[in-house]
Amino acid sequence: MTTYAFIGLGNMGGGMAAVLAGAGHAVTASDLSASALQAAASAGCARAASAEEAVREADVVITMLPSGGHVRSVYESAVLPAARPGALVLDCSTIDVETARALSTAARERGLRPADAPVSGGVAAAAAGTLTFMVGSDPADFADIERVLTPMAKAVVHAGEAGAGQAAKICNNMLLGISMIGVCEAFALAERLGLSPDRFFEIARTSSGQCWSLTSYAPWPGLVESAPSNRGYEGGFSTAMMLKDLKLAQAAAAAAGAAAPLGAQAEGMYALFERLGYGAKDFSAILELLRGQPETLD
Ligand code: NAD
Repeated sequence: MTTYAFIGLGNMGGGMAAVLAGAGHAVTASDLSASALQAAASAGCARAASAEEAVREADVVITMLPSGGHVRSVYESAVLPAARPGALVLDCSTIDVETARALSTAARERGLRPADAPVSGGVAAAAAGTLTFMVGSDPADFADIERVLTPMAKAVVHAGEAGAGQAAKICNNMLLGISMIGVCEAFALAERLGLSPDRFFEIARTSSGQCWSLTSYAPWPGLVESAPSNRGYEGGFSTAMMLKDLKLAQAAAAAAGAAAPLGAQAEGMYALFERLGYGAKDFSAILELLRGQPETLD
């Protein structure tokens, strides 16, 4: 049995903490939201009065927070001063590479063993314990990190040194955001050309245009049963979340002097879609913008 502190019990963290508690681990939970804390307690976690109290006795500290600012503040006020030397401190939030690297350095200076470990997979995968973790850490710590994340994971992959997990996450999601727009654009053009969407799907899925956005997550309804397009674009991965990750990718590209022009274009399109009021819709709903009829989503 491992003793975990879990800070941030929202849509993702709530499910992850419940999976750990369900696997028989001791989990002490902390969140600013009383209702999130109550849900974690119902799932078998112990409640802490503060993040500082939660981390004090933990072998493993996991944070699952909205953004880099939140993670920095929790690290500075609780994790760095109060976690036990030698503890693994794993940030599973999606945040900027620079903050991840800075917090890793600060944690090492305190004798902690840090990693950035953002996840692929949404709320359903968090609740089912089937997330993919992308880990940036000292290679010597990876075996222990893999062991403690495994109850929540389908896969735990070592991406490289500190920051590499966040780099992998934003590069992957930038690619996803771009490829989804490409797939939607192709469906919209096929429709205009009088080609039936299911015929186009059958052909493209076995041709050179095939990609995950098409074959596993088709934005056109009726083609891939599990895709959010069959549920009114509810659930899934929201446009607002995709936009967050594309902004992180552009910030990273600017800081590293890399050119990511299609990522910039994709960011602009999801920003427009959000501005029109569709931030809560799954990102594949951008199909309707490209068909020139976003109001059908209302
Ligand atoms: P969320 O907003 O549902 O949950 C965040 C939780 O953190 C909230 O319960 C909030 O009260 C808590 N919190 C904020 N500041 C705190 C503090 N100082 N101390 C303690 N608790 C605090 O967010 P989420 O959807 O669970 O996402 C969490 C992270 O996971 C984000 O970085 C997101 O980008 C990433 N992510 C989300 C998804 C998804 O599908 N939702 C998928 C992959 C990655």
